[in-house]
Amino acid sequence: MNLRIGYGIDVHRLEKNIPLFIGGIQIKSEHGAVGHSDADVLLHAICDALLGAANLRDIGTHFSDKDPKYKGIDSKILLQEVVQLIETKGFHVVNIDSTVILESPKLSPHIPAMQRTIASLLKIEEDAVSIKATTHEKVDSFGETKAIKAYAACLLNK
Ligand code: MG
Repeated sequence: MNLRIGYGIDVHRLEKNIPLFIGGIQIKSEHGAVGHSDADVLLHAICDALLGAANLRDIGTHFSDKDPKYKGIDSKILLQEVVQLIETKGFHVVNIDSTVILESPKLSPHIPAMQRTIASLLKIEEDAVSIKATTHEKVDSFGETKAIKAYAACLLNK
């Protein structure tokens, strides 16, 4: 057994009238996240947690936001590529714990669909994918619905 922990953080700005993707699914919202890819803050935080645990640098190193190849890309594809990268180093995912900070809409109704999507991308049971959600109590840019943030921690085993 060769256990490794990793963590990742991601932030995206929010704007009105663009789609919002979190945890691999689209969520109905007044605001969407701005980014070079589909700006899925949770999948990006998970990518960085996995890369960190395998000591493979960070998401920006592998998928440059200057590269037109990744313009508007579905972040599920990025996470799949990250899983391949950690597998080439002999690792597999044991579990994920994560938190999304978003003032609105409420994410709890969407969490089971996110868990299913992420579990299948990581090739693990849904029970091994924890997703928590919290608001920012109307404080600062997150509380004013100007930005969204996600934290993810993971355990890998070789
Ligand atoms: Mg990002």
